[in-house]
Amino acid sequence: MNNPNISVLGFPVDEHSSFLRGPGKAPQKILDAFYSERTNKFSENGIDLGSQNLWDNKGLVKLSTGEQGINTIRDSILAELQKGQRCISLGGDHSITFPIIQAYRRIFQPLNILHFDAHPDLYENFADDPFSHASPFARILENHLADRLVQVGIRTMNDHLRKQASRYNVEVISMSEFSADLKLKFDGPVYISIDMDGLDPAFAPGVSHPEPGGLSTREMITVIQNIKGNIIGGEIVEYNPDRDINDITAATAAKIFKELLGKMLI
Ligand code: MN
Ligand code: MN
Repeated sequence: MNNPNISVLGFPVDEHSSFLRGPGKAPQKILDAFYSERTNKFSENGIDLGSQNLWDNKGLVKLSTGEQGINTIRDSILAELQKGQRCISLGGDHSITFPIIQAYRRIFQPLNILHFDAHPDLYENFADDPFSHASPFARILENHLADRLVQVGIRTMNDHLRKQASRYNVEVISMSEFSADLKLKFDGPVYISIDMDGLDPAFAPGVSHPEPGGLSTREMITVIQNIKGNIIGGEIVEYNPDRDINDITAATAAKIFKELLGKMLI
């Protein structure tokens, strides 16, 4: 293998979180958990992610506040994509998804998104912050940046969000209808957005908005392993180290990171 064609970027941002700060500290914590001696670096499909030249750790991207920070996220992803790289981003809160998908859309048409979350993140307006972590998929869909959005793990629908989901033809697989043998198939490129609160708080307590009744770690991993499609990137967001217990959510985020890398490399 010559040059690694996956770039991993950390986006330490939480200013668009609506309830608690903390996810800005997550990217370094996830990398620390990945590199920790307490586990090895193999994905379950047998790839040694610790070996050289499989993926490129670009480290943390320096971000200023406000719209300028959002634009820096978009431009740093776009620069990687233009080199032919696929990107995995470590957040940060879910606000990073809109600028990331702005960059992806310039390169990939059609573009599908698979989104794990307790929340649909479809608010047209949340606290007058257009970049709120509660709104990235509203911004993406109203700007026609994705052709298909599939959401898994949803369990917080209200009337407004239900209207938004039907207005934009979102395919919602709510927790009440979720089955672990879910096999998703995507025609064309697919981007995977993983909000850690899609997992049940028993498995990932370190989040700002714990919502009981969610996915087990095993269920999320199995759904990822069973995807049929060309995965062109992904992200892990909304880990909040301030709310964690014994670094268990850091270890879980690092595990999901390994499985996502392994799936993209096979
Ligand atoms: Mn969420
Ligand atoms: Mn979210």
